[in-house]
Amino acid sequence: MTTPVPAGQRVLLIEDEPGLVLTLTDRLASEGYETASATDGPSGLGRAVSEAWDLILLDVMLPGLGGFDVVKEIRQQKVTVPVIMLTARGQVVDKVLGLKLGADDYLTKPFEMIELLARMEAQLRRAAASAAPGARRYQFGDFVMDVRKAELSRRGERIDLSAREFLLLKYFIEHREATLTREELLNDVWGYHSMPSTRTVDVHVAWLRGKIEPNVKQPQYILTVHGLGYKFVG
Ligand code: CA
Repeated sequence: MTTPVPAGQRVLLIEDEPGLVLTLTDRLASEGYETASATDGPSGLGRAVSEAWDLILLDVMLPGLGGFDVVKEIRQQKVTVPVIMLTARGQVVDKVLGLKLGADDYLTKPFEMIELLARMEAQLRRAAASAAPGARRYQFGDFVMDVRKAELSRRGERIDLSAREFLLLKYFIEHREATLTREELLNDVWGYHSMPSTRTVDVHVAWLRGKIEPNVKQPQYILTVHGLGYKFVG
């Protein structure tokens, strides 16, 4: 079974070689990735933990703070994004160390672009598969939902949700991109379809939007599908 890798995945490239940054940024853009780059360890780490990424490409030799320290710190801060480390030729010991510290894969420079793309896709598929229903953490935009703790946070800041709002949002996330009718939501999130009315769904969606949407008049996560219901994207 293969899980398709959705378009527009956000990649953070932490690399100090300008030529490589340029080449990778161009190529990744042509493959449909959104790429941002940081050229030293401290700024890379800052962006890695404060913004939402689908994947991080991390050089080992970096000014300010080395790649090993960056990945170690990323994991200490409980950020679970896949990290592929880029090592110089022949750093065999480094590779083992990188994996021990929490990197998911490594690639030795110079590498073929096709090889990097394949490794990236493998990591993204693995991450997508572990975000399937039943997983403990979901991510969308800047938000992280910890299902076990029943908590939602945005850039590390906790967002207060009622139990029903939490269940509704979780249901939306687990049915990303699907159009969900009010009846379906009422049935699956509330557990009954006759009482209360489908209006209840609209009220809770409005509350939820108030807590997660940057602009409730133009929702970017919970979209209204006119005449049908709602759809969660992100
Ligand atoms: Ca370097």
